[in-house]
Amino acid sequence: MNKTKIIATVGVNSSDKETIKEMINAGADVLRINLEHTNEKNCVEIVNKINAINEEIGTNVAIMLDTKGSMVRTGKFLGGEAELVTGTKIRIYMEKIVGDSTKFSVTYPSLIEEISYDAIIKINQGHIELRVEDKGKEDGIPYLLCEVLIGGVVTDDTCLNFPETRLELPFLTAEDRKSIDLANKLNVDFLALSFVGTHDDVLEINDLLIDMGNNHIGIIAKIENERAFEDIDEIIKVADGVMIARGDLGSELPMERVPGMQKAIITKAHLAGKVSIVATELMASMGEELTPTRAEVSDVANAVLDGADAVMLAAETTIGKYPTETVATMDKIIATAELDVDYFNMMDRAMRTESKDTTGVLAHSVAYNSNLLDCKAIFAPTMSGYTARKISRFRPRCPIIAVSPDVNTVRSLALNFGVYPVLIDELKTLEKIIDVSKKMVKDVIDINQGDKIIITGGYPFKEVRHTNFMKIEEI
Ligand code: PEP
Repeated sequence: MNKTKIIATVGVNSSDKETIKEMINAGADVLRINLEHTNEKNCVEIVNKINAINEEIGTNVAIMLDTKGSMVRTGKFLGGEAELVTGTKIRIYMEKIVGDSTKFSVTYPSLIEEISYDAIIKINQGHIELRVEDKGKEDGIPYLLCEVLIGGVVTDDTCLNFPETRLELPFLTAEDRKSIDLANKLNVDFLALSFVGTHDDVLEINDLLIDMGNNHIGIIAKIENERAFEDIDEIIKVADGVMIARGDLGSELPMERVPGMQKAIITKAHLAGKVSIVATELMASMGEELTPTRAEVSDVANAVLDGADAVMLAAETTIGKYPTETVATMDKIIATAELDVDYFNMMDRAMRTESKDTTGVLAHSVAYNSNLLDCKAIFAPTMSGYTARKISRFRPRCPIIAVSPDVNTVRSLALNFGVYPVLIDELKTLEKIIDVSKKMVKDVIDINQGDKIIITGGYPFKEVRHTNFMKIEEI
């Protein structure tokens, strides 16, 4: 049973029920729907399918909605696309026109004032690059004259990145507001926020969810520009987790900065007890091939060794040819990489910032002793997920079986390293907990007579955020 979680994005090549089921069976813990590429109707259909599959096969796979975000996009092109040729000039108009290989429009008219001469514009996550040469007006419509530095095919509504320019785009768009409403209505588990600028953006969405009466959707802040990285400590404090969204991050910034930022963000999130997700191009070549490259294997393994809670598949499972095989291969790489994780070092790292209260100290003891005694599982009944999250932060070597009668709690734990969440009826007495834990570990993991497990939790059980006992049991 792997401890590092897999997020698989559902898209055109993976939205049928059979493929979703296969991806779950291959190891996907969370399924993401990217609203950048999925309309509301399809999104509702996918969510309904995932919920039906969870019912049918008894899983608790969580659902993440990913907002479109406040981005500058191209307008429409004649025939839906155009080829921009390296070395040619192109005009970018600030009002709607039909685009072709010499011109197109953008959705942000203030761009002309906010961008400077010589600034770089990237299209399609950096695959196309332009440089601003001049600004002008034709029939009263302002335009930027650009040189195409790297050409390629651009399609309708493609996102643009501005590596050296800080645009004054408002964070929350009308479309994203609708997406948040949808996330609430569909009762999804995580909301990934595209193009977060500062922690205030996260707080704004948190307030919106609270106004809707929703207190359980986990907010994942996507870190995809310099502004967000500058405010990373505060963002981590207020979000439930962060995603290192390497696609846009590597377009907004020189891509050679991304590996260092990735490591720093994983460590900061771990120290703060928040979830970190490494996303994009981890298994890119499996979009076309049945095997990954050595570099991709290394990329996934390094995310695991650095202490990420989750790794995410995007294009590989949405438009790739082999969504299920990609999840299965990633699962295999994780399993092997986890054998090399320095668990005691991870634990020491977490202890540096642990609040020295009963729950924190007990969570550390549980993880430490489970490693010393070579326990096969930690069994943690939890109402809010707090106990399981605390233990996860200490990165014990064995799985944490977190049981809860609250389905929202169970699904909220889908991203936490090492946590295997299970929905059960409420356990009312300590005797019942011990009895159920000994029976349940046999269903969940391979366990032999004489193996040890640790049972931990808070008593009385109704109180949340109150872990106060630990019991070592032999099977
Ligand atoms: C990314 O930019 O890496 C990312 C995960 O965002 P999206 O899939 O929305 O492009």
